[in-house]
This record gives sequence, C-alpha cells and structure tokens, in this order.
Amino acid sequence: MNGGNTTDLASQARALLADIEQKTLTNKDRMALPVQDMPCQEPAVRAHNMDEVALGYTEAQARIEAARCLQCKNAPCVAGCPVSIDIPGFVGLVAKGDYQGAATVIHRTNLLPAICGRVCPQEKQCQAPCTLGKALKGVDRAVQIGRLERFVADRERAAGGAPMPHVQPQTGKRVAVIGSGPAGLTVAADVRRDGHEVVIFEAFQKPGGVMVYGIPEFRLPKAIVREEAAKLERMGVRFELNTLVGRTVPLAELLQEEGFDAAFIGVGAGLPKFMDIPGENLVGVFSANEYLTRANLMRAWDRERAATPIYPSKRVAVLGGGNVAMDSARMALRLGADEVHVLYRRTREEMPARAEEVGHAQEEGVVFDFLASPTEVLGSDKGIVTGLRVMSYRLGEPDASGRRSPVAIDGSEHDVAFDTVIVAVGNESNPLLAKTTPGLAVDKKGHVLVDEHQKTALDGVWAGGDIVLGAATVILAMGEGRRAAAAINAYLKGK
Ligand code: FAD
Ligand code: SF4
Repeated sequence: MNGGNTTDLASQARALLADIEQKTLTNKDRMALPVQDMPCQEPAVRAHNMDEVALGYTEAQARIEAARCLQCKNAPCVAGCPVSIDIPGFVGLVAKGDYQGAATVIHRTNLLPAICGRVCPQEKQCQAPCTLGKALKGVDRAVQIGRLERFVADRERAAGGAPMPHVQPQTGKRVAVIGSGPAGLTVAADVRRDGHEVVIFEAFQKPGGVMVYGIPEFRLPKAIVREEAAKLERMGVRFELNTLVGRTVPLAELLQEEGFDAAFIGVGAGLPKFMDIPGENLVGVFSANEYLTRANLMRAWDRERAATPIYPSKRVAVLGGGNVAMDSARMALRLGADEVHVLYRRTREEMPARAEEVGHAQEEGVVFDFLASPTEVLGSDKGIVTGLRVMSYRLGEPDASGRRSPVAIDGSEHDVAFDTVIVAVGNESNPLLAKTTPGLAVDKKGHVLVDEHQKTALDGVWAGGDIVLGAATVILAMGEGRRAAAAINAYLKGK
C-alpha cells in the first residue's frame, strides 16, 4: 500500500514498537513485521491543494521499518544504489534510534537525501534487489529504504540541518558550473570544498533545475531545494541567475576571457518532444514542460499573486505514460480541471511511471484511457482546442524495449471532447550549447559525449546529468556530478 490514515498508522506503530522493544528479534521476527505504509493526505483533500502528499513516517514507524532489515552481509541493496549509500549501516542506526548517526552515514555519499528520499525510483534501484523483498516475494515488501532516508533527512532538517561542509582555503582557481540542477549543484559543492571559487550560471530566475520547475511542490517541497542552494551560498558559491550560457555569454568567453580554469556543463534535457500530429499548434496544447514550469516556477496555482495566468481548463487530456505525465495530470486537477484523462498507447503494466505515482493519480481521480492515442488534435475555427481524434490499440509482440508493442486497430478512430491537451512524451537535449560551442562533441541526439571521468572533447570542460544521459533521474545526475567534480579537482591540483 502507498498510503494510510495518519492517526491509525501512528497509533498502531507505537503499540507495535512498545512490543518489539521488549524482545531480541530473530530474522523470522523481522520478516513478520508489517511494511510501514506512508501516511498521506486524504486523496479528496490533496487533489485541491499543493501541499506535499506524503507526510513522512512517525518515529515509531521508522524504527519498525528499520527493524525489518536483515542486515545482510552482502547487502545487495547497496549495489542497487547509484551512489552506494551504506544502507544496512544507516538503517541499523535508525532501528536503534540514532538518527544523527544515520544522517552522518548517508551524507558520506549522498548530498541531497531529503530530495532523493522523496523522488528516487527506489523500487527500481536499492529496493529491487533487497533480500527481504525477494524472500517475501514482492518489491513492495522490501525494506522501505527511501522512506527511511527521507525520515532521517527530515529529522536532521528539523534540528537545524546538516553541518556545514569544511571548505579548504582559497586556491585562486575558478570553476564555472552551467546549470543548477542536481548535477550542477553537486559539482559546485564538491569543487568548492576543495577551495576553488565556483560560479553557477543558471538560465532561470531560481536555482534547482527540474527539481524546481518540473517536479511539483506536492511531491517535492521547494523549500528543501532552496535550503540546499542557500547552503551552497553560505559555502561561498555564487549564483548568476537569468544567464543563458551560449546566448548571454558564450562558454568559450568564460574560459578564455573571464578567467575560469574549468567548466562543468549540466544543462539538462529541457527540450520537449511533440507527437508530430496535426493540430499540435492549436491554442490549448501545452508541452508538459511549459505547463509544469508555469505552475511550479511561476506559481500559476497561486491565482492572486501568480506571475502567469492559468489556462482555464475543464477537460484535460495528458498524452504519455511516464512520471512527467503523472505530474502534469495531478497538477491539472490542482489547477481546477473537472476531469483529467491520461491517454497511453499500452496498458498500466507497461507504463514507465512509478507505480506509487500512478496509484496516487488514480486515488485523486485521474482517469486512465489505456490502449489509446490521438492521431489529431481537433480545433475550432478560432484555432482553439476542442478535442482529440483517438485511435484504439491492442498489444502485440514485445519490441526492442522488452515491452509489448501497441498495434493500432483499423477503423477504431473516434472523437473525444477536451479543451486542453498536455503533451508529455519525453524531452531531448537543449541544442544551444552544442551549437554555440565549437569543438564540443555531441551524439545524434545532442547528448554531450564524455569519457569515464565525465570529460568532454574540450580542454578543461566536463559534463554530466541529463545533457549526457538523456532524460534520466536526480540521483544519476548527482552521481555524474560527483565523478566530474573529482576529475575537476584532480585537474586543478595539477594545473
Ligand atoms: P536539470 O535538472 O534539467 O537542470 C538543468 C539546469 O540547467 C536547468 O535549471 C536549466 O534552466 C539550466 N540551463 C539549461 N540550459 C542552460 C544554459 N544554456 N545556461 C544556463 N543554464 C542552463 N527524476 C527522479 O529521480 N525522480 C522523479 O520523480 C522525477 N520526476 C520528474 C518529473 C518531471 C516533470 C521531470 C521533467 C523530470 C523528472 N525527473 C525525476 C528527472 C530529473 O528531474 C532529471 O533527471 C534531473 O533533474 C536532471 O538533472 P540535471 O542536473 O542534469 O538537469
Ligand atoms: Fe536490509 Fe534489504 Fe539491504 Fe538486506 S538487502 S541489508 S534486508 S535493506
């Protein structure tokens, strides 16, 4: 289960914790402990507010969940974590009630645990190989590592936050970081710690990348990202906001004329893909990027004070089956739509979105139209969206991705009324830097090419995150940032 009534979950957990504290638990006892559900806002309430949906474990819940861990010697969970957190180490400390100790263990390898605990796809990473989940025959029965990470990070934040990292004396070397998503923020922290001057250049007016303009407040409160950026500023990192490198200033100028000794490119994959069907230029069609950016960064939901108007939607169609589609659909409900449909060419089983997000969207009232995809956006003579022409599909043989491929059913086209269409079928690399930086090697999709240390084809320039990987995840972007920072620090030492 994904959620539960807060009061019931808290009181059940208190009673159970009091019981197990009296015993020395065997592995059999640990395996019999119930998975602790995440307390959540009620669906009917949360569908109309922007507050965080998941409320976080109580202390008793966290200690019971941690007590489920079998402390495996080979710890397959650690191999599943892209930044190799010592999972049994921190979970064992939570079980003992040593939350500060647990935070210290996590910080050794993860700079942003309050963020990762909320948005990492744990069911595909650390929780997938968990011995307990395998023994109990379900990844949903694995130790809930992400929820425990979030618990530890939130307790530390409530107690004043992680201690400030030690910064070495100034080296006189300067590093330009382009883009302030998780990749750029990680590089900035690690490079600054070695005493180098760091300036982050960010195109938008707020730092944080997709964590600020893409992932909605109801999944990741922006205050958490703001705290991370503020911590970097206290470490001496400088932000140059509203600066589009490649247009406001070319990368080569930063290196050759402005005295930067090295640069990191972490500009993400912010170029939305479209379906390439007739009618996509009608008024009322949005890319998920634009829709979510207006809502998150420009606070369109805050009607009184918003810097941007909300398009008045009543019947919304969201095209796609990933996390971005789920975020868009749930945002549309919160912005006042009466009915929101997600159209997806395959079935729920093949959807790339996290099961938890799909479950949350369904609970909130989002309607899923599976085996359906539009062939045309329909519009009025004034050029405004009136609906979609939809084709029905059946599942055929598995394709290259291993998922069963959708096969169109001839003669199945039918028209459905919608006033808004949000296209959430993926993102591509922004081509600006590649076009304006001679010598920067990219592949056919515009991803910057790097070696095993994230070094690009250009001297003194590294890259990482979505601009290298294509649309990926926060933790993978952070992992690439760490690798790049280590290489930049080594390079500057020898310079
Ligand atoms: P980004 O976060 O994209 O940051 C790049 C930054 O560079 C941006 O701030 C951009 O404005 C700036 N920039 C771009 N060009 C320039 C330029 N020329 N000059 C200056 N600045 C520039 N991942 C998860 O792990 N879990 C999730 O639940 C999840 N949900 C998502 C939901 C949505 C709606 C989206 C869009 C993505 C989601 N992701 C999720 C993916 C994840 O957010 C990204 O993989 C991650 O943010 C990539 O980090 P990054 O640092 O490479 O780039
Ligand atoms: Fe604990 Fe699961 Fe990791 Fe084993 S695999 S140490 S049970 S979290």
